[in-house]
Amino acid sequence: MLEPLIYDISSPGRRGVTLPEVDVPETALPEGLAREDLGLPELSEMDVVRHFVRLSQLNYGIDIGFYPLGSCTMKYNPKINEDAARLPGFALTHPMQDPNLVQGNLALMFETQQWLKEIGGFAGASLQPAAGAHGEFTGILMIRAYHKDRGDTKRTKILIPDSAHGTNPATTSMVGLNVVELPSDDRGNVDLETLRRECDDTVAGMMLTNPNTLGLFEEHVEEVVKLVHDCGGLMYGDGANMNALLGVIRPGDLGFDVLHYNLHKTFSTPHGGGGPGSGPVGVSEKLVDFLPGPIVECEECDDAEFPHFGLVQPKKSIGRVKSFHGHFGVIVRAYTYLRMQGKSGLRDVSDHAVLNANYLKARLQDTYNIPFNRTCMHEFVAEGCWKGVEGIHALDIAKRLMDYNFHPPTNYFPLIVHEALMIEPTETESLETLDAFVDAMLKIAEEAREQPELLHEAPHNTPIGRLDEVQAARQLVLCCRPAWLDAPQE
Ligand SMILES: *Cc1c(COP(=O)(O)O)cnc(C)c1O
Repeated sequence: MLEPLIYDISSPGRRGVTLPEVDVPETALPEGLAREDLGLPELSEMDVVRHFVRLSQLNYGIDIGFYPLGSCTMKYNPKINEDAARLPGFALTHPMQDPNLVQGNLALMFETQQWLKEIGGFAGASLQPAAGAHGEFTGILMIRAYHKDRGDTKRTKILIPDSAHGTNPATTSMVGLNVVELPSDDRGNVDLETLRRECDDTVAGMMLTNPNTLGLFEEHVEEVVKLVHDCGGLMYGDGANMNALLGVIRPGDLGFDVLHYNLHKTFSTPHGGGGPGSGPVGVSEKLVDFLPGPIVECEECDDAEFPHFGLVQPKKSIGRVKSFHGHFGVIVRAYTYLRMQGKSGLRDVSDHAVLNANYLKARLQDTYNIPFNRTCMHEFVAEGCWKGVEGIHALDIAKRLMDYNFHPPTNYFPLIVHEALMIEPTETESLETLDAFVDAMLKIAEEAREQPELLHEAPHNTPIGRLDEVQAARQLVLCCRPAWLDAPQE
């Protein structure tokens, strides 16, 4: 049964809080500040607690079960991150406080910058961008500024493989540059012939996700980087899949000029449902002066006992891309995670992410078709349909998985796989959990042949059944309000 709207359990005059006696003189609120038309629900504390706890129990999260959502990297989020982010010295500082009074916070930001540079092999980093897509936007703005600064104004093209995340072309258009789509070859790599043809003096750069959204390492990455550099373009790395590379390879060493990190994916923070995230960028020497600021600098680092941290704006900075200092709370979580893992721990994260994905692939590949089937990195993409089994779609399999208490994989992305099911297991999952997921997937494949209606009508065990997704997208209901507010006035 569905939880009633909070307005439906409201009862006039009921109160959830009791305020203490006023110990200062009462004054009227300024004119216009008190609004009568909000229609706030009136509830006891118990009503409110039960309502929201019940709602939270209808939800599915990584803390409840396996969440193999490809591309999104649903991380293991150690609870100690939350403790750290709530420490009053972090949680209660004001972003406009005098830098001299928040040296600890600046030190944390400085060290995070340093580690991101080290992990990615970069000369500079900025923590400002608020998410991966925002990091892309920042990176392409820097690439544009770099060419403009050299008086090279005819570079208007950004090359993007057809396996890319939708945010790559969207970013390019937002910056005012033109997207040139590159096809993939039959091993899931960038088609080099097309790349050679498109590389000319109008190329501003290329955006490459490596490993790409098929979960495959780009086998010609060095040649791709060389081709783009040889025609004067810069290389953008979409770092959303860095969780496959930690401690193994550094994008900066491969020649990438700028890369965004999704702190909320690679370095943990509960995400989904829209945020908050954090998308710092790392850059090569060529782009250091163009970074968005302020950047945290260590001013008296030679005297290691009393280093002093300050804020600086790079010389040719593209300016601010975010108010204050980015999403500081997410940066604290990433810092805690980095310190907890250390160098060897980060390498383990990637090793286990890759091992888990290959294990699932090996156990599923006789039952599910895997179009680009070679050793994968942290994720792989299977087809959610079979020849000779009519009317079964990736969506049916995804919905049926919910009946087995698993979150569905990403579906219908990447676009180059028919009926795509993109599976990314979290690196910390046990063998038992991975096996239970495989068992469910194999059972569903059997059901698809023998009882297809079980799939078509799924999910059966969730609070609400199959939704009309077209209507849900067309008639978005984004806010909850009392019916009387919308009733016609008498
Ligand atoms: C998640 C993702 C992005 C966008 O990152 P956000 O933090 O969601 O804005 C870009 N590219 C790839 C490959 C991703 O998986």
